[in-house]
Amino acid sequence: MKCEIIRDLLPSYIDGLTSEESNLEIEKHINECSLCNDIYDHMRVEMKSQRIIFDEDRIKPFKKLNRRILKSVVATVLICAMLVGVYLYFFTFGWKVNSEDMNIHYDYKDGSIYIEFELLDGRTLTPILDRHAFGPEKVINFRECFSSIIDDRGEYPNQFSYGIEYNEYFRKNLDDDNCVILNFKDKTEILYYKDIVKELKLKK
Ligand SMILES: [Zn+2]
Repeated sequence: MKCEIIRDLLPSYIDGLTSEESNLEIEKHINECSLCNDIYDHMRVEMKSQRIIFDEDRIKPFKKLNRRILKSVVATVLICAMLVGVYLYFFTFGWKVNSEDMNIHYDYKDGSIYIEFELLDGRTLTPILDRHAFGPEKVINFRECFSSIIDDRGEYPNQFSYGIEYNEYFRKNLDDDNCVILNFKDKTEILYYKDIVKELKLKK
């Protein structure tokens, strides 16, 4: 009879739910009764492993949820990066300009020669001066992109003016091979300063 009462109390005892008085009784009994002691040991091990399984079952859905959140975060980041890339391509870096889309004309103002470039399609013109080119020639690579509202390149983003001071030094060093090389998508065009000077009817 005593054994059965003890065994009924064991689960609560293992969970620490029994009173101090009961604990003393239970401990005294399992120290003396080897059968109840065995049952106690088994019960303890079993309850512990059940608790672990229960905990894992609770953790699994969270792991799955975490993986799903991670996946959607990665997807969001990738989509954002792609959108930024598309934006930069269409509105910033753009593409090479076709020579037929460009109007070029010369001007002389206040002692300087100006080569004026105008994109006929009204898009934003980006001239990139080749800093590696030195000597008698200058190299300009042209790119165009769509004009965006946040672009602050003034009223005429489709225009670019390249100026050279037409001074004593320039005149003295003017050679047949002094030129500006223009790189377009379809071809390379070379503008010789001697031709520009001639067309503007400037004195040599
Ligand atoms: Zn017993």
